[in-house]
Amino acid sequence: METMTHEIITTEAIVLKSLEFKEYDKILTLLSPDFGLFSLYVKMGKKKHMQAHALVTPFTRAEYQFTRGRTDLFRFHDGSTLDQHLCLRKSYKTITTAAKMVGAICSSQLPHTEDPALYQLFRVLLGHLTKSEDPAPLLALFYLKLLKHGGTWQEGDCCQRCDKRVEQEFYRFGGELFCQHCAPPPSTIFNSQEHRALGQLCHLTNLALLEGFASPGDLHQKITSLFESCYIFN
Ligand SMILES: [Zn+2]
Repeated sequence: METMTHEIITTEAIVLKSLEFKEYDKILTLLSPDFGLFSLYVKMGKKKHMQAHALVTPFTRAEYQFTRGRTDLFRFHDGSTLDQHLCLRKSYKTITTAAKMVGAICSSQLPHTEDPALYQLFRVLLGHLTKSEDPAPLLALFYLKLLKHGGTWQEGDCCQRCDKRVEQEFYRFGGELFCQHCAPPPSTIFNSQEHRALGQLCHLTNLALLEGFASPGDLHQKITSLFESCYIFN
């Protein structure tokens, strides 16, 4: 969506972060299908601050109107709330899981990159989080889908480096698969059962099926390690 400076642009977006600025103003980090991650400067008087509260609160999904500025910081014009996701605040576990998803997006995605598929995935998962009793599988699935979305996810059973068939101990670094001899540190090890489950989760498209999905051992923790070694600690 290419537009000229000062032309009003409209897009749906979800608030990831909201930073206080000056007395009433905010700088938002938003995720949208059209611009990916972007920052929005919301200048508000005291009165407007009260009215627009939902629009500047993390996890709100809304339609935003804004103009491009001279920098990458877009300038808020108007907006209408679509969903505040208030149910995310029903439990500590749920809200911290949503916050971890936000952290994962911010550490893995480049700003100003159009990505409707990622937006749609995050939107759907946030909706499911509000209904889920145990948010851990949703977070693991999100990490895995982000790794796969990064474009380096390797299917099959062959070592990325020596091309030999891997058996029993499957080492992964990022999306790539290695045998025991070729695995670079810090790879994460998956046994055969976990390796199979990873493949099934990667292709899971119906989230309702996640409820009945029996994840072996500490698969969720291993997926988290895999993601973090790739995006957070590097
Ligand atoms: Zn190898």
